[in-house]
Amino acid sequence: MADAGVDVLLLSHGADLPWLTGYGAMPLERLTMLVLPVDGDAVLVVPGLEAPRVPDMGGDVELRPWGETEDPVALVGALVGTAGTRRASSGVSSRPVRLGISERAWASTLVALQAQLPAATWDVASVVTGPLRAVKDESEVAALRAAGAAADRVALALQGGEIPLLGRSERDVSADIAQRLLDAGHQQVNFAIVGSGPNGASPHHQAGSRIVGPGEVAVCDFGGTLALGGDTVGYCSDITRTVAVGEPSPEVVAAYEVLERAQAVAVAAVRPGVRAEEVDAVAREVVAEAGLGDRFIHRTGHGIGIEEHEAPYVVAGDRTVLAAGHAFSVEPGIYVPGQFGMRLEDIVVVTEQGVELLNTAPRHLAVLDA
Ligand code: ZN
Ligand code: ZN
Repeated sequence: MADAGVDVLLLSHGADLPWLTGYGAMPLERLTMLVLPVDGDAVLVVPGLEAPRVPDMGGDVELRPWGETEDPVALVGALVGTAGTRRASSGVSSRPVRLGISERAWASTLVALQAQLPAATWDVASVVTGPLRAVKDESEVAALRAAGAAADRVALALQGGEIPLLGRSERDVSADIAQRLLDAGHQQVNFAIVGSGPNGASPHHQAGSRIVGPGEVAVCDFGGTLALGGDTVGYCSDITRTVAVGEPSPEVVAAYEVLERAQAVAVAAVRPGVRAEEVDAVAREVVAEAGLGDRFIHRTGHGIGIEEHEAPYVVAGDRTVLAAGHAFSVEPGIYVPGQFGMRLEDIVVVTEQGVELLNTAPRHLAVLDA
């Protein structure tokens, strides 16, 4: 916080609060806010009726439940004021107090706090928490590994034909995948994309009423949240496998060969010291050399942790130098509008030696019976 010039973190909705404390705020309109000064005691301002859900934080955080007729914004304002006064009296500087607020805090919360604290300057909390959260510790990698293994079991069922596609709607296939994510140990399903035939060309296609036909490919991208025994906070899985229902066309086979190679080359490029954007560049080069560069319409990957998408981002411009503990997806895709789409996604963790793949389901184009 001192390095980032942030005097007080104000953590509300989003992943920063559970990452730090083990407690996640329900997405209520009532204010939950951890007031965390750079030098002083942390206070969790929480709706009184939510206080019983707050886990024991071992005395690191003081709890300040507020009643239904209290003004929680004034409460937070007073706590920030105390921190500001302490800072001023210690002679650190005469600049206005600088606050870092959760990116996912309600806009209404921010607007009310800005009225309460007109002299303060603001930043997003992620200037402090982002780089810290991006590097996972051993217990976080263990949770990501467990989530990845659970998603793999669903991918294997898909590739093995246990989840039929032919003649079923995307929505039914999606519901099947979602149930299996839960059966495999996730506590929560975050998404189960099924994009068949031309729908696959829309990377985040919402599974709908379209019936999967013979000779088509379907992009299946799914993930959930899994908390290891006793933990209150879960970590995410995210995997994509593209399957063919019956013999795919030569064009699909040729494009998939490019896709598989691009993903393998990108995974092989992951090691400490490499920049996130370089992993994107090597994947993109393979696809571009095959003349399909304009069909690869998204970044190569995203960090993953408590949130499905978080720093670092595997894209030109993200110059994060990879270090052991960085966890992210490697997921090139090729999309031909009106015809088909394909994507191949695994989660990887950077290790001291190189890279660990958290997904091991086969990467070739599985061909299901039609
Ligand atoms: Zn995905
Ligand atoms: Zn992803």
